[in-house]
Amino acid sequence: MATVIDGRHLAAELNQATAKRAAKLAARGIKPGIVVILVGDDPASLIYTRNKHRRAAKMGIRSILKKFPADVDQATVMAAIDQYNRDDTIDAILVQEPLPAHLDGLAITNAIRPDKDIDGLHPTNLGKLYANQPGNYPVACTPRGIMAMLRHYQVKLTGKQATIVGRSILVGKPLAALLTNADMTVTITNRHTSNLRAVTRQADVLIVAAGRPGLITAADVKPGAVVIDVGINRLSSGKLTGDVDFAGVQDVASLITPVPGGVGPMTIASLMAQTVDLAEWRQHGQE
Ligand code: NAD
Repeated sequence: MATVIDGRHLAAELNQATAKRAAKLAARGIKPGIVVILVGDDPASLIYTRNKHRRAAKMGIRSILKKFPADVDQATVMAAIDQYNRDDTIDAILVQEPLPAHLDGLAITNAIRPDKDIDGLHPTNLGKLYANQPGNYPVACTPRGIMAMLRHYQVKLTGKQATIVGRSILVGKPLAALLTNADMTVTITNRHTSNLRAVTRQADVLIVAAGRPGLITAADVKPGAVVIDVGINRLSSGKLTGDVDFAGVQDVASLITPVPGGVGPMTIASLMAQTVDLAEWRQHGQE
C-alpha cells in the first residue's frame, strides 16, 4: 500500500518559510509584489486567481488582480505588461490561462520581462532551464512544486526512469527538463503516443498531467513506482478528481499524491515562494 503524499502539509511548511522570507524583506522596506492578469470570466480561472490572491495576502505579498473583459484587444494587454515590466513594486507577472482565441498569447508571454516571468514561460528562462544553466531564473511552479515533493520524500532520481504523461509548456516540458537535469532517463508522452501503458509501466517515477480522469489505472503502473497526479478534473457530480485511479493505483505504487491535496497546494505555495525569490534576486541585482 502506497504512502500518500501530504501536499497540504508540505505546502503549509513551504508557506511558513516563504512568509518569513517576505517578513525579512519587509523589514528592509521591500514588499514582494505579484500581478495576476485575468482576461474574461472563466469560472475556474476566477477561482484559481482568487486563491492565489488570498494566499499572497496572508503571507505579506502584495497581490494585484488586473481584470480585462473577454473582448479586450491585444494592444491593451501588451500596454499593461509594459506598465508592470517598468513598475518597481511588481516582482512577478502572471497571465492566467486560458486566454481568448483572438489574443496572441505567445506575444504576451514573450513581452514579459524574463526576471518577472513567474511562470518561467519566457524563451530566455525556458532556454536556461533546458541548457541546465547555473544561476537564478524562474521555472514553472507546478514542476517546481513536484521537485520539492520528490526531494522531501527523498525519492531517488539519478539513473531512474521517469515517464511524464502530457507535454504542456506549463507542466510536462519543464518537468522533463528538471528531471533530465536531475540525471533521470525521461520519456515524455502525448495524446498520440501509441501503447502508453508500455511506457508508463517502465517508470520508477510516473507523472501524469493529461487532464483525463481515470487515464492511469493499476495495470499502467510498475509495482513500487512513485505516482504524481497533476490532473484536476471536475466530474459531473461536482467532485474533483485527478488523472489517476487513486484507489486502484494506491495498491501498486510506493508513493502517491491525492487529488485534491497533492500537487495543487504545492503549486500555489511554489508560486508564492518564487515571487519572493524574484523579489530577492532583483534586489541583489540592484545592490
Ligand atoms: P494541456 O491540456 O495543456 O496538456 C495536456 C497534455 O496531455 C497534452 O500534451 C496532451 O497531448 C496530453 N494527453 C492528453 N491525453 C493523453 C493521453 N491519452 N495519453 C498521453 N498524453 C495525453 O494541460 P495542462 O495545462 O498540462 O494540464 C494538465 C492537467 O493538469 C489538467 O487537468 C490541469 O487542470 C492540471 N493542472 C494542475 C495543476 C495543479 O496545480 N495541480 C497545474 C497545472 C495543470
